[in-house]
Amino acid sequence: MTETINETKHQFNAEVGKILQLMIHSLYTNKDIFLRELISNSSDAIDKLRYLSITNPDLSKDDHNYKITIETNEQDGTITITDNGIGMSKDELINNLGTIAKSGTQAFLEQITGDAKKDTQLIGQFGVGFYSSFMVAESVTVKSRRAGSDEAWEWKSLGDGEFTIKEDNYDKRGTKIILKLRENSKEYLDRHRVSYVVKTYSDHISAPITFIDSEGKEENLNSSSALWTKSKSEISDEEYKNFYKAVSHQFDDPWMVLHNRNEGLVEFTNLLFIPSRKPFDLFHPDRMARVKLYIKKVFITEQVELIPAYLRFLRGVVDSQDLPLNISRETLQHNAVLEKIKRAIIKRVLSELKKKAENNLEEYKAFWENFGAVLKEGLCEGGEFRDDILEVCRFNSTHDNEQTVSLADYISRMKEGQNTIYYLTGDSLESLRKSPQLEGFVSRGIEVLLFNDHVDEFWVNVVQEYKEKEIKSITRSEIDLENNNLSEEAKKDEEDTKERFTKLTNHIKSLLGDSIKEVKLSKKLTESPTCLSVPEGAMDIRMERFLLEQKQLNSGSAKIFEINPKHDIINYLANKESFGPEDDMLIKILFDQACIVEGEPVNDASEFANFVTNVLKKAYL
Ligand code: ADP
Ligand code: MG
Repeated sequence: MTETINETKHQFNAEVGKILQLMIHSLYTNKDIFLRELISNSSDAIDKLRYLSITNPDLSKDDHNYKITIETNEQDGTITITDNGIGMSKDELINNLGTIAKSGTQAFLEQITGDAKKDTQLIGQFGVGFYSSFMVAESVTVKSRRAGSDEAWEWKSLGDGEFTIKEDNYDKRGTKIILKLRENSKEYLDRHRVSYVVKTYSDHISAPITFIDSEGKEENLNSSSALWTKSKSEISDEEYKNFYKAVSHQFDDPWMVLHNRNEGLVEFTNLLFIPSRKPFDLFHPDRMARVKLYIKKVFITEQVELIPAYLRFLRGVVDSQDLPLNISRETLQHNAVLEKIKRAIIKRVLSELKKKAENNLEEYKAFWENFGAVLKEGLCEGGEFRDDILEVCRFNSTHDNEQTVSLADYISRMKEGQNTIYYLTGDSLESLRKSPQLEGFVSRGIEVLLFNDHVDEFWVNVVQEYKEKEIKSITRSEIDLENNNLSEEAKKDEEDTKERFTKLTNHIKSLLGDSIKEVKLSKKLTESPTCLSVPEGAMDIRMERFLLEQKQLNSGSAKIFEINPKHDIINYLANKESFGPEDDMLIKILFDQACIVEGEPVNDASEFANFVTNVLKKAYL
């Protein structure tokens, strides 16, 4: 029993413990993915060795035939997955299979709710790697020898919170994983079952996968060709779908497949997918696209800025012949060829989106709902593709309650002499549609775009025009709805009105003091008595509030208080000889109302409540 002498016991860290609990105790509906996960790890390990061998050929000189084998043994009830990839040292066994290192699993943990049913679905969506082997195995043994090392180690666990490590005499390069199957998972001893799972999830794996049954019979299970190198006509929809699922770890079908061989300034092949569902890590802070970069069919990295953040919903593979294989991942970051590939991909994706939006708006809507907000981030970055992005943007609008519109639609409907694209931002479409700010526009038949994504606040600060039309928020007060072509008579009318209201506006200004910047007779209100606005050039109201919430601004600016000269209440006040406490109360209520509608805090909420109660008493009692 010399082996036990150097055996050490280790505890899984707490997060792994949580995952294992879920794996073992949650009723899991798709056990098959354990095999996909282990094969994908083997394939990663082979990719890693292939990559390292470029600069250090000695690492793989003992065996150049990269391969993965799956063996079953009826008698022992085991299934064994072996690869001749990079392998793991003792420390790597402890760290990689004892803690949670990788982003996928980490993100999974962040989303765990504690509700077993929901969490089980989550596992299905994420696939949480190595630990999924405990769904089918009562014990897992990993034997591994790192390429170039003369030591081998064995890792073993029953999935019960701890694992052991001891030295081993495994004499091959790479990793062997032996699963002792649970009573309810013996189906994975069956060749047909295994073959089915491999074909479904792992057919594209570039190393050959061989099945060896209890009698030693061998069978090849996958086509092991890089799918993207085939021509489109040789690839079925089914193959594209399966490849997408494998490469993205998503369970949906792709919304769009972009498979192109590019021959121009740079040669490269892209097989990219736009998912039909939001990937779980879409809003992960790293904002990276999970697109794999290959050079001449050798996997290089996923961690490279090949796809701009605003297209990070893309999944898939880019393979180029024009990059040198021995380039380090670090120098790739600033590589000119890579930069060209990036531009070509952006162009292609945007032009495909444009085609789709023009030819099939219904389908395009599904994309836009998932990823429109992400795509609009690209507008904030400025850059040469801004107009292309604007062209594929779809917005809600006062023109139509159901359909979204494009800027081109908007421009085609502009009024005679209108040179501005008007918009209003807000938290929800519902409240936007009810905003008093819209009244004057709607009554004059001027269309207003309704922006309710967070990112809209930002890009409107960067993009001030499109096709020589100004893009402008209607909360700016200076919008001249009469278009400056007033007749003499109308001008006189306006002067008269102003005069009639002078007493009231002066009084309001002295009553509300610093809470407001000024009082203005509104041109845009028709139904509502009052609203808030900001001076020309000032920050949009919602943008300011956002910055306040983010503590990037210390205090808000005073707003312009617009009053509607056509409104009965305003006229009632204007006709007063003098103003008493009752009138002041009314003015304050009107102001607080305008704040509330705009989502601004009221000055003194309890005073407001008291006022309203007083008015209600008068009305009802
Ligand atoms: P992920 O693959 O997302 O990193 P896993 O849980 O599947 O997460 O695997 C954890 C880590 O264990 C891998 O990142 C890798 O470092 C290591 N690993 C797992 N299987 C193998 C293998 N067959 N060969 C070498 N390393 C492996
Ligand atoms: Mg993995």
